Amino acid sequence: MKIALLPGDGIGPEIMAEAVKLIDFLVKEGESIETETALVGGAAVDAFDDPLPDQTLKLCLDSQAVLFGSIGGPQYDSLPRPKRPERGLLRLRKAMDLFANLRPAKVYDALADSSTLKKDVVAGLDMMIVRELTGDIYFGEPRGIHTNEQGLRVGVNTMIYDENEIRRVAHWGFQAAQKRRGMLCSVDKMNVLESTQLWRDVVIEVSRDYPDVKLTHMLVDNAAMQLIRQPQQFDVIVTGNLFGDILSDEASMLTGSIGLLPSASLNQSGQGLFEPIHGSAPDIAGKGIANPLAQILSLAMLFRYSLQRSDLAERIELAVEQVINQGVRTKDIARAGERVVSTSAMGDAVVNALQRQ
Ligand code: NAD
Repeated sequence: MKIALLPGDGIGPEIMAEAVKLIDFLVKEGESIETETALVGGAAVDAFDDPLPDQTLKLCLDSQAVLFGSIGGPQYDSLPRPKRPERGLLRLRKAMDLFANLRPAKVYDALADSSTLKKDVVAGLDMMIVRELTGDIYFGEPRGIHTNEQGLRVGVNTMIYDENEIRRVAHWGFQAAQKRRGMLCSVDKMNVLESTQLWRDVVIEVSRDYPDVKLTHMLVDNAAMQLIRQPQQFDVIVTGNLFGDILSDEASMLTGSIGLLPSASLNQSGQGLFEPIHGSAPDIAGKGIANPLAQILSLAMLFRYSLQRSDLAERIELAVEQVINQGVRTKDIARAGERVVSTSAMGDAVVNALQRQ
């Protein structure tokens, strides 16, 4: 198993170090895992004047999966656009053709109080959004702002999908559901948008390959309501880029803790990039207080989706759950009066839990 490690900036290197502790532990247990680390984002700009140097890109393309930390920081905000850290990540996503974005949102019982919603609404929530990442209105042509014949400024974007783009992400939706509770809800707006009528038609066609998955459909406005009203009804949601952008942020906030949420971006062959949904948190970088669990849970997703090792993914996820149930807390998830541990102590606690399994 060959994994590229890209720690990045800010808290990235601190939380990556904790994921590496888990990899080292699994290697000691006898797993054959090869890792190589490379620079990306601001760290790569500092060293090579390029947020995605050629050697980093090559390493990623040659690996089965990329474990990514986070990038960015105020010191890079005034750089010209091509040199900005986030440009490195965008270029990497494009080069790897990562078209399916998987974002789980899980509420741990011991942390259900952290949500802004009532505990009984979110307790037990365990869902995932599969968002198409490379098409839709964000990329469709024509686009732009022009002046029409009456001299009025007109803004135009084009919502467009071809059936292949829909089909390939639908497959990831069904396969994610197969690995979970076997329920897939496809979200569209087919009552008014033709491009999403095609979305629904193609998802139904693809469903014939997955008789073990129960497929339902929901209009996006209803989905936005249901996520707040009764989120436990969902297992996996699959949707386009625009709707997925909005719904995945809504779903992640149900959990109330940004430091706990991993994500995956996958291509056709299953190669993927796995990263926390949070950024580089410059306000706490270097203090040893960042929560490494989103990074560690990203490693679990990497084992499940790119390396076909659901057994290792489940062990890591169980270890994280055990640590949370034991009351181990970094600052971001601690309630008043609870004892707070460092980034490194949280990583050690997860390794210890793995060891005890
Ligand atoms: P952020 O996610 O970095 O931080 C938001 C808040 O959450 C901060 O208060 C931070 O301290 C806290 N936080 C985030 N992760 C945490 C963790 N693991 N443990 C504890 N607390 C945590 O978002 P921001 O402040 O808007 O952005 C900071 C930088 O990150 C910017 O340069 C931005 O461009 C970049 N960014 C990068 C990515 C990425 O790497 N994919 C994503 C989003 C933002």
